[in-house]
Amino acid sequence: MQKKEQMYEGKAKKVFATDDPNLVIVDYKDDATAFNGEKKGTIVGKGAINNVMSNHMFQLLEQQGVPTHFVEQLSERETVVKKVSIVPLEVIIRNISAGSFAKRYGVEEGIVFDEPTVEFSYKNDDLGDPLMNAYHAIALKLATREEIEQIKGMAFKVNEVMKQYFDTLNVLLVDFKLEFGKTADGKIVLADEISPDTCRLWDKTTKEKLDKDRFRRDLGGVEEAYQEIMKRVLGK
Ligand code: 5GP
Repeated sequence: MQKKEQMYEGKAKKVFATDDPNLVIVDYKDDATAFNGEKKGTIVGKGAINNVMSNHMFQLLEQQGVPTHFVEQLSERETVVKKVSIVPLEVIIRNISAGSFAKRYGVEEGIVFDEPTVEFSYKNDDLGDPLMNAYHAIALKLATREEIEQIKGMAFKVNEVMKQYFDTLNVLLVDFKLEFGKTADGKIVLADEISPDTCRLWDKTTKEKLDKDRFRRDLGGVEEAYQEIMKRVLGK
């Protein structure tokens, strides 16, 4: 397969065309942002960790019947994925209160919910990814009612698979963000990435943060946190 021109560059990834119109190559970067781009830095090794961890999770999810965009890992940082048009919704599942949920409702972090929650935000940087409900998404023609139901079902299934998986690594899956895409034949698949950039992960025993939240405090700490997650996921 031939890597061709760059199609897109985002905060964490570059996407390249290939000689196959249905496939693209994702190239993960080490750049990190927090607070909606206000804090920027480089986390050494982040691109490789996010690539390898995402591919590991996508393969686990495929085995459990969740369709994903994953095709083949090419190198430490590069992966071939199916070309999709991204549904412009960020789908957030929460098992434990933290982050914007704790802030919005004025509660402490760490409350374990009886059942997971789902929320959507409109994927739009200029507007700051505002929260939206399913009716708003349908009104704006971001997805159909059927697609939203399918996306919700897939997101809860991903949660069940990932929660169990992280439990075996002594890690709590606090919350995470998913994105979905539509392939050329109209099928909805899990896309984007699953990594310490997109998940809140706490050590089950110490409650230590093993994700991007560490970035809020110090850059050195976040490198250690990403490496610790990688070690648990891949045993190295
Ligand atoms: P919160 O709404 O509490 O800030 O985030 C909830 C979860 O979704 C966290 O695990 C966070 O990492 C993820 N998340 C929410 N928005 C974004 C985003 O724009 N980019 C990334 N990478 N993750 C996000």
